[in-house]
Amino acid sequence: MKTKAKVVVIGGGIAGCSTLYHLTQEGWSDVVLVERNDLTSGTTWHSAAQVTNFGMNQTMVGLKTHSIKLYKELSEDPDHPINYNYGDGGIRLASTKEQIQGYHHFASMARGMDVDFEVIDAKECQRRHPLISTKNLIGGLWDPLDGDIDPYQLCHALTRKARQAGAEVYTNTPVIGLKQYKDGTWKVTTENGDIDCDIIVNACGYRVNEVGAMMGVHHPVASMEHQYFLTEDIPEIAEAGHRMPLLRCPISDYYCRQDKGGLLIGFYEQKCKTWGMDGIDPNFVNALCPDDLERVTDVLDGAFERMPALMNAGIRSIINGPITYTIDGAPLVGKIPGKENAFCIIGLRAGLGEGGGHGWLLAQQIVHGEACYDTWCLDPRRFTTHANVEMTSLKAIEDYQNEFRFHFPHEHRPAARNAKTTPLTPVMAKENAEFTVINGWERVEYIKPSEDFHPSLSFHFDEAFDIVANEVKNVQNNVGLTEVNGFNRFEISGSDAESFIDRMFCGNITHKIGRVGLGYLLNDFGMIKSEATISNLPSSDRGPKRIWYGSAAASEFHDMDWLKQHLKADEEVEIKSLTNDQTILLLAGPNAREVLSSCSREDWSKEAFPWLSVRECFIGFSPATVMSVSFSGELAYEVHVPNAFLYAAYLSISNAGKGFGMKLFGSRAVESMRLEKGFLAWKSDLLTEFDPFETGLERFVNLKKDNFIGKDALQNRIKNSPKQKLVCLKVACKYAPAYGGASIMEDGKVIGTITSGDWGHRVNLNLAYAFVNSEKSELGTQMLLDLLGEMISVEVIPFGPYDSNFSRILS
Ligand SMILES: Cc1cc2nc3c(=O)[nH]c(=O)nc-3n(C[C@H](O)[C@H](O)[C@H](O)COP(=O)(O)OP(=O)(O)OC[C@H]3O[C@@H](n4cnc5c(N)ncnc54)[C@H](O)[C@@H]3O)c2cc1C
Repeated sequence: MKTKAKVVVIGGGIAGCSTLYHLTQEGWSDVVLVERNDLTSGTTWHSAAQVTNFGMNQTMVGLKTHSIKLYKELSEDPDHPINYNYGDGGIRLASTKEQIQGYHHFASMARGMDVDFEVIDAKECQRRHPLISTKNLIGGLWDPLDGDIDPYQLCHALTRKARQAGAEVYTNTPVIGLKQYKDGTWKVTTENGDIDCDIIVNACGYRVNEVGAMMGVHHPVASMEHQYFLTEDIPEIAEAGHRMPLLRCPISDYYCRQDKGGLLIGFYEQKCKTWGMDGIDPNFVNALCPDDLERVTDVLDGAFERMPALMNAGIRSIINGPITYTIDGAPLVGKIPGKENAFCIIGLRAGLGEGGGHGWLLAQQIVHGEACYDTWCLDPRRFTTHANVEMTSLKAIEDYQNEFRFHFPHEHRPAARNAKTTPLTPVMAKENAEFTVINGWERVEYIKPSEDFHPSLSFHFDEAFDIVANEVKNVQNNVGLTEVNGFNRFEISGSDAESFIDRMFCGNITHKIGRVGLGYLLNDFGMIKSEATISNLPSSDRGPKRIWYGSAAASEFHDMDWLKQHLKADEEVEIKSLTNDQTILLLAGPNAREVLSSCSREDWSKEAFPWLSVRECFIGFSPATVMSVSFSGELAYEVHVPNAFLYAAYLSISNAGKGFGMKLFGSRAVESMRLEKGFLAWKSDLLTEFDPFETGLERFVNLKKDNFIGKDALQNRIKNSPKQKLVCLKVACKYAPAYGGASIMEDGKVIGTITSGDWGHRVNLNLAYAFVNSEKSELGTQMLLDLLGEMISVEVIPFGPYDSNFSRILS
């Protein structure tokens, strides 16, 4: 066994094997895989191994497309072909028009990744899958490339190819210890000896936390028991004369595919069970959980009704095994938060279909620092301090029970709520707030007219439309107050803080005391990594001169890693997170200045405290840091308050607001207003797939600056004019917003992709932002948007059509 390697991948299921293979494909050969038993002996060996192309976003669709292409190539290897039923096709059934709306959206989104889903009616579903009845069915989504693969052969094919490229694989080699050296490299201790390496990858399936514990990490991954059975031959399949496509049923929670001359049917029963919560038997290897068909009887009835031929089919065998889940159902693939040179590829619940793609994107991140797609939807850092296994198990149960029922826009499921709250959460609840969850935080979405107000789940504008419109109008005409909790806030101090910040941002960032600036951080490829405000706080009795770095609520772990990763050994910079200690009370609207003046003794006049100012003060008696910044496009102030004083500050502002028409508003109003102003949202419009010039942020770039991360790459990129540009669109549709991912079409070709959209209540327009081919970015250009299956006309209009001369913010 080697004693030194560049990378050690721990775990030989599909996740580890795919990672190893792709590391060699990216050009690294000094890589090893260590497996405690045999390859595939965790979950992979008994997988139903369906390979589908469906995903909720373009990154998922893209990575699954990669799996399919790779598996097809492997299956056609002349020397070692593997069994892959490629292209049987698959149908996701629907019994409601809202599900069909969703399928239309996913088809529009997938088109941008060159994937052709098709929305078909019930009769067509039956024509393609002759075993099903059309009772209570209105149609489905057809995925032409669905199929299934032999998981054992797949993993062996991947490791064979990896070995041919120089990788080594050690089976029966359990990892029993991990130690990080001072220089950030690792010692991997196995039962067969130690390996020193630069980078480790945890790919340990349901044992992820056994290995996580060896490096002091608690991964939010929990396992569920999951069952399928295989039937004897079914004569109707032979009669059909073709292989049966896959089925996914959100009505009765089962899936099925052909297996030999019969079917394989898997269940997502309501009475589901977590697994391994109190530790896992070390001898659970190539093993299954006991059969438990009793548990799935509710689901079985639905499957019988849909496929009557099933009722006469004998059961050949039953498989019940552990399957891993995360908090939002998507895996954790990428950098392990807070750890150097450590990655994971864990929490895979559809690892056979996705594993090829996940290993591909992970290997790119390890070797190059970034993947070809924006991988935030998979990034382990999207969950922060709240994410533990107990919480994950509650979300896992909820997710399992809703396996094929995708989330609708503005759908907030009830499990594991109130993970992160502030003293104002119960106060807002009393005001009838509807809450959305952002990085675990309960954030006010809007104020409901009554406690039992429940808008319907749909891709169309819902019943909260007018409520949000009124909240926006009150912000526009009077003043609104909302709580922005979880806003990411780092305090950066030390003698090198300013030069450090200059290096991190691609534009000029003000260092003037009492001033705030907005800027962008790029990655090494010159693409957008993050967006942050920098506020320069004076030296005061609250501390010496400090810099506050403020960024999106979800970016806490992501941005901290990025900043720390770039600190030089000899730099005197300290970065401390205040994210969980303070909360913002956001005051917006023309009367905001009067409200603030009524609860604080400072001079809030335009002259004394102009736009982009920051000062420390008191609101009532609560210490606060106030910034005159605006995401809404109105005169606005962010009042940052330590959580211990939050309720007191809220009472002071509420009392002060009484004479000025102040009302509460929520994040849906904020979203509508920021679209009207052309302010961009991180990970909707701001993506690592685009540079600042493509994103319309050239005014935030200073290529004359001495140096900044990504400068050389950006200079090279802009030698060619941008292929795509972010534009603002007017959408000619009154009933639905444009959703991120939807495709803009011309002559059957995709020429643009929506990043975000919503109704702009002040400009009274359906607005959207989209990356379009550059030649389509001229004002007035008309195009067609595939919006929920309809071709809707869209027109390029000025970026941020509301108050383009900023007269309201500057008032
Ligand atoms: C019943 C069932 C049906 C399924 N059907 C499908 C399907 O149709 N399609 C689909 O895409 N997915 C399906 N899945 C999910 C899929 O099988 C999993 O997502 C996938 O197999 C997970 O692979 P993995 O590599 O992450 O984990 P595993 O296969 O569990 O691999 C982890 C490996 O790590 C090793 N390991 C653990 N600890 C150590 C250590 N200390 N040292 C060294 N090695 C260690 C283990 O021995 C194991 O081999 C199904 C799952 C189940 C249970």
